[in-house]
Amino acid sequence: MSSNTSRGWVAIAGLGPGPAEWITPEVTAALDEATDLIGYAPYVARVPARDGLQRHGTDNREELGRAGHALRLAAQGHRVVVVSSGDPGVFAMAAAVFEAVERGEPAWRELDIRVLPGISAMFAAASRIGAPLGHDFCAINLSDNLKPWELVEQRLRLAAQGDFVIALYNPLSKARPWQLGRALELLRTEFPESVPVVFATAVGDEREAIDVVPLGEARPERADMRTLVMIGSRQTRLIARAGGAPFVYTPRSVGAAS
Ligand code: SAH
Repeated sequence: MSSNTSRGWVAIAGLGPGPAEWITPEVTAALDEATDLIGYAPYVARVPARDGLQRHGTDNREELGRAGHALRLAAQGHRVVVVSSGDPGVFAMAAAVFEAVERGEPAWRELDIRVLPGISAMFAAASRIGAPLGHDFCAINLSDNLKPWELVEQRLRLAAQGDFVIALYNPLSKARPWQLGRALELLRTEFPESVPVVFATAVGDEREAIDVVPLGEARPERADMRTLVMIGSRQTRLIARAGGAPFVYTPRSVGAAS
């Protein structure tokens, strides 16, 4: 980060899916220089406390307020790290900070604002089973808190018709119990029932669980809030192994394997 300590800055940092070894040295350096740490409380809790670091944990629904708080502190000369899980640009705080910049004080546009990338859940999940994202793919946030459900359905249908591998983030929560079931139902009308579905839960934790099932057998109850659901494309292949789970991969070119 900037060596000019008299000027404030905001670093919007990705902490990765969980394990410390998936945090980049760049993020660690920013955390070491920070005066303030802002984010959803469970993510803030992942950063060890130290003298000189003020920790501000907030509720998950306060993204814009949290972003404004970070920008105000930086404008006063604080060195602020805003933390997200995974990558901060993927369904996370970076976009909220830029939204606050666009709507907020004109002076905020001149601030030193940087996005420090992290390992997104879809990359961590993919790494556990092989290379399902080896060809074209897309990521869809299944939450309809921030967009109408009809739009989610339209995107799912078009992604399936385009034969993209689909990474589903936020597949369900207590407040959104039916969305994943409805999404799987819709995808069964578009994809053959044999395409593989990966349920990757708590990747990197001791609670980690990865299951690969055909779309025809995929049940929404398998997922929770810390599950990344990945739907293979018509090209995605399984390599069976006597000793354990199959490798799952999508060939680099269409029609490469058959
Ligand atoms: N910015 C984050 C995503 C935030 S949305 C990223 O890039 O990964 C939160 C969703 O991410 C969860 O509902 C879940 O679908 C996924 N997720 C986050 N951490 C995960 C983990 N360790 N294992 C599996 N999925 C995870």
